[in-house]
Amino acid sequence: MPSRERKNTIGSHLLEALRSRPRRIVSDAGPRYASPDGHRTRFPGPSEIGLDSHPPSEQWGDWREGRSADGREHGRRFDLVPTLCFNCESACGLLAYIDHDTGAVRKLEGNPLHPGSRGRNCAKGPATHNQITDPDRLLYPLRRAGARGAGEWTRVSWDEALDDIAARIRADIVATQGRHVVYHVGRPGEDGFTSRVLQAWGIDGHNSHTNICSSSARAGYAFWMGIDRPSPDFAEADVILLLSAHLETGHYFNPHAQRIVEARARGCQVAVFDPRLSNTASGADLWLPSYPGSEAAVLLAVAGHLIRTGAYDRDFVRRWWNWEAYLRAERPDLPATFGAFEEALEELYAEYTFAFAAEESGVPQERIEALAEMVARAGTRFSSYNWRSAGAGNEGGWQVARCLMLLHALTGSIGTKGGFWPNTWTKHVAPQPHPAPGPSWWQDLHMPGEYPLAFFEMSYLLPHLLKEGRGTIDVYFTRVYNPVWTNPDGFSWLEALTDESKIGCHVALTPTWSESAWFADYVLPMGHSSERHDVQSQETGRAQWIGFRQPVMRTHFERTGRPFRDTRDVNPGEVWEENEFWIELSWRIDPDGSLGIRRYFEAPAGAGSPGAAASTAGGRPQADATAQPPAPRKMTVDDYYGYLFEHGVPGLPAAAAREGLTPLAYMRRYGSFEVTAEPVARYLEEVPQEQLVDAVTRDGVVYARSGGAGYGPKADRLADGRSPVGVDVDGRVLRGWPTPSGRLEFYSPTLRDWGWPEYALPTYIRSHVHRSRLAPGEVALLPNFRLPVQIHTRSANSKWLDEIAHTNPLWMHPQRAAALGVRTGDLVRVTTHIGHFVLPVWVTEAIRPDIVACSHHFGRWRTDDAGGGNRGLSSVVGLEREGARWSMTRKHGVRPYASNDPDTGRIWWSDVGVHQNIAFEVHPDPVSGQHCWHQAVTVEYAREGDRNGDIAVDTDKAHASYREWMAKTRPAARHSPDRTRRPRWLPRPLDPQDGAYALPAEGADVAGATDGDA
Ligand code: SF4
Repeated sequence: MPSRERKNTIGSHLLEALRSRPRRIVSDAGPRYASPDGHRTRFPGPSEIGLDSHPPSEQWGDWREGRSADGREHGRRFDLVPTLCFNCESACGLLAYIDHDTGAVRKLEGNPLHPGSRGRNCAKGPATHNQITDPDRLLYPLRRAGARGAGEWTRVSWDEALDDIAARIRADIVATQGRHVVYHVGRPGEDGFTSRVLQAWGIDGHNSHTNICSSSARAGYAFWMGIDRPSPDFAEADVILLLSAHLETGHYFNPHAQRIVEARARGCQVAVFDPRLSNTASGADLWLPSYPGSEAAVLLAVAGHLIRTGAYDRDFVRRWWNWEAYLRAERPDLPATFGAFEEALEELYAEYTFAFAAEESGVPQERIEALAEMVARAGTRFSSYNWRSAGAGNEGGWQVARCLMLLHALTGSIGTKGGFWPNTWTKHVAPQPHPAPGPSWWQDLHMPGEYPLAFFEMSYLLPHLLKEGRGTIDVYFTRVYNPVWTNPDGFSWLEALTDESKIGCHVALTPTWSESAWFADYVLPMGHSSERHDVQSQETGRAQWIGFRQPVMRTHFERTGRPFRDTRDVNPGEVWEENEFWIELSWRIDPDGSLGIRRYFEAPAGAGSPGAAASTAGGRPQADATAQPPAPRKMTVDDYYGYLFEHGVPGLPAAAAREGLTPLAYMRRYGSFEVTAEPVARYLEEVPQEQLVDAVTRDGVVYARSGGAGYGPKADRLADGRSPVGVDVDGRVLRGWPTPSGRLEFYSPTLRDWGWPEYALPTYIRSHVHRSRLAPGEVALLPNFRLPVQIHTRSANSKWLDEIAHTNPLWMHPQRAAALGVRTGDLVRVTTHIGHFVLPVWVTEAIRPDIVACSHHFGRWRTDDAGGGNRGLSSVVGLEREGARWSMTRKHGVRPYASNDPDTGRIWWSDVGVHQNIAFEVHPDPVSGQHCWHQAVTVEYAREGDRNGDIAVDTDKAHASYREWMAKTRPAARHSPDRTRRPRWLPRPLDPQDGAYALPAEGADVAGATDGDA
């Protein structure tokens, strides 16, 4: 047996330089802020941290700005109302400054009481003000008057729109259980309200954008631990590893960035994988410009080093990995001992040497060695993040998360200070009042049988699934979602959206025009972040908080005693909020309650005033045998949130009571609440003795008659009815992990049993853009990197952001540019497998020579000169179609224009980039379902006649490519071990009932029954 002595063989100048960085400064009482004069201060917020420069909350009702030094007033009086930013998923706190004199929102700044953002915002937060004052925003409901996409619209009343849409949905629910109703969401920005609506309708109609975003990362994490999202404790870390420009543009940009900056100030080291020299990479201690898709090879080399040198937490591995399952299944030749497993482990990763990783990644071996040593030294204070980036770019990218988590599982840096946390431990989702059961059927259009392990709906394949005749849609809601622009293969989306036999009625719920809304039947104006209600909690650090997004003018009206019916009375034009819209629509679908839907949208009995729901159990009407039941009243947002805050947020009712407020009033006043600053590592929770009566243990999982609910192993019940309650760890029964084994699944029986045994362990899969898979002349294009001041598809209506960043040239290294004979500004033609696009080049050394890159966000377009898109960030284009051959040509770029905002007359930029996504084929990863964004392309000097922004695509080729990728799948119909559609323990956003998981009988027409395994 090899020695477990730690054998450090690394010694280099780089390592010495890294070691010489200052060590962490550990404070005894958590993070503090120092003012410029060195005075340490505590802000009296929930985390006792924050900024001094914000208005004290006791003055929020009458905040004055503009006093001169002698104390005289020159300025304005504001009512400060908290809400949440909705420009990314971080849900940072905002404070709306409402002018007492004019009643207008003058600006939005940070909410110092918000535990996640702590008073800070990125540029996109204050730019919310641009969005609410955007002269091009949608203000009234519109109905299509001509052909879809022709741009002819009629203004209609909300009643007309609601009655028509509700009648269609009702008819479909009556006839087919609602199998033709789809809610397709981009950014949810809320925790459960809309899912509750869909559950009440009884439909498996939830469709998301997850598969163009985070499916791979989710899959990689979930196969390990049953939880699909990481939550790093950056603030307390000693070493942070970022896969991408996470600090500057990452998923929880502002909350994470400020904690990384704090950690660095204490001496934490930061390593960054990024093939571009992003701002994050340029500020890191160690930059690893790895070839796209090679990240897992580097991570496994680091893992191999930890294993070979014994620099891992043996006790953690022994207690928490399912190593026994691995030995039983794969190494029956070895004794079932931990020592034997350690030998096997070393053998497994022996091939992942530093030299191999350097060869695969192109990163100098010395840097990979330095990373390995950093991770080894960090131990339990090793933190990391991986979300889109490498995972979302590459076929097999889900193994990047699996390999990254291997490092945490080796170092034991899970649930530790400065380590890695699963998000469900640091996010608080309040339970829904009176939820309906999940749908009783399965929507194959969203979760086709070829993808039993996907995370989650195969949303971007919808046009192809419709083209194959797998179903039709009658009512298709899009919300914060612009599929034509955001997804790959947008012309196939245009074909689907313009075919009324495939999509009967497209309802775009949107604050602003988009490429997709233009092809809708109804365009319904919804509120921006300061014009709507939501609750949202995010895993932004080692704490748990809940935030309240509220329509700030509604609260201002309440405070100042002005009457209103609903948010349409306080928002601009007839802009509504979604909560009230869904409640009203649900009543109209089921006006007499006969469908059993309306009862989920009735106010609890006795609720006569806002917040009264708080006094009823579960939101259900309370029976009173002696009284006539009152006529049902429609649920209000106060009913709903009153209940949620009273019953679903521990500690909030008491905190509110201390201030003489109801929980709802507390949240309207402060906008957020910290549930705990000390979340617990749930896998270590001891199962109480009273739950262990008559318990038995099978393969390390403890089953009892009292179990089955809540956190813990996801093993099947025993035949005698006992349910899993925890795991036996050295004689103690602990909760463990929500996996079938209750342990961290280094070895995944799920992947093995569902057709992917070769991927059951953390391993390296060569990407579809690996050098060996490129055709002669091809190069990998990275199309998915973000800029810190834009917001996917919907920041076009933020003039400040548009002025800072508005175009997306092709990044190219000088060596490649010289070989091609191009200079910055020259046009090139980029040819994909289904078409081409034309754009200018930016020659820069900040990228590897063997790739090219083009940023996300830009290339917005509209077909109408007068509107249909924000005029500050969209070109006017012509669309041509000949059968399957589409082309787009730019008529003109952005021009200054007259509006009620004088700034629109000062626009100085014209080029707003090219819509590259529309020329990309779909690349569905056969396991995770993730669209693998990187493209194999050829780049040439623009041909004669090529113009900036030109695009051509053949959708027949796009469909052929879709079928090629589908052939890689291993469908449930052929590989399911138990005749179900999906492992029951894997999550789905809106989980159907158990019976819906059963596959149709053998021989039935099931998607994927014949394809696959190519
Ligand atoms: S990080 Fe920026 S965009 Fe995201 S919620 Fe915070 S302020 Fe808004």
